[in-house]
Amino acid sequence: MKGVQMVDLKFQDTPGVIASYILDTGDGLAVVDTGPTSTLPALTAGLEARGAGLSDVRHLLLTHIHFDHAGAAGTILSRVPEARAYVHERGAKHLASPERLVASATQIYGDAMNRLWGEMLPIPAERMTVLAGGETLQIGDVTVDALYTPGHAVHHLAYHVGPDLFVGDVGGVRLDTRQTPRAPTPPPDIDLEVWKDSVAALRKRDAHTLHVAHFGSYAQDAAHWDGLLEKMDLDAGRIHAGMDAGQDIEAISEAYTRVLMQELLAEGEDLPARYDFACPPWMSVQGLMRYWQKKAVRTP
Ligand SMILES: [Zn+2]
Repeated sequence: MKGVQMVDLKFQDTPGVIASYILDTGDGLAVVDTGPTSTLPALTAGLEARGAGLSDVRHLLLTHIHFDHAGAAGTILSRVPEARAYVHERGAKHLASPERLVASATQIYGDAMNRLWGEMLPIPAERMTVLAGGETLQIGDVTVDALYTPGHAVHHLAYHVGPDLFVGDVGGVRLDTRQTPRAPTPPPDIDLEVWKDSVAALRKRDAHTLHVAHFGSYAQDAAHWDGLLEKMDLDAGRIHAGMDAGQDIEAISEAYTRVLMQELLAEGEDLPARYDFACPPWMSVQGLMRYWQKKAVRTP
């Protein structure tokens, strides 16, 4: 298998929403973000289409522990005894005992939980390589720089391998070259100041290609990062304005979603529906409201 291979996990039977990236390390395959357990058949099919299988996987490089990125990690490890997971130290305990993660997601998704994500199996501590960010890992023939990149989640990592930079969600949601990247901002960790620091660090990396989880591979250029920063401030400002005007969450969410969908539609006809799966706007509203509320407490 040559270079970086993208597998479309066809989340909820929708192409172009969640991607996994595969590379051959010379010591088995590495998978950057496994996706949820519900899409494990698509990941397996993607491996098989490239002449490999799940049993060839040895390294799960997790950018963060949200279901759409790491949900299947425990299931894969239970099926492939030689494989291990790489995760940031602030996410490791939740992978070891995912009960809290599952409980809080169940509050949000309710009955849809299993259909959307499938199960999340615990990962024994000895099957994890726990990272702080800043490490250089030698995996087979491949050198991997683990980069601590909080903002979307306090435990977010990016991985830099040669010309490739795997940016998870900190690189924004970009479904297509036509679309300006936008920050996915679900609760509870959103912190735009540290997110901007992460962007500043990532854009300095000597890499040609950004691989974003939602969705696809793009040139590492100023337009990507500048677009992300611009939309981040625009979206956050809209939420702040609604809060300032004393609107409730329903009103803020309704207005925000309407404008967002108009803007996405102007960039591509198919973008609103896919964006809704990749990053539900109401969830971004919740995360940004929480961010502004926390900030108000910090700086009265
Ligand atoms: Zn995500």
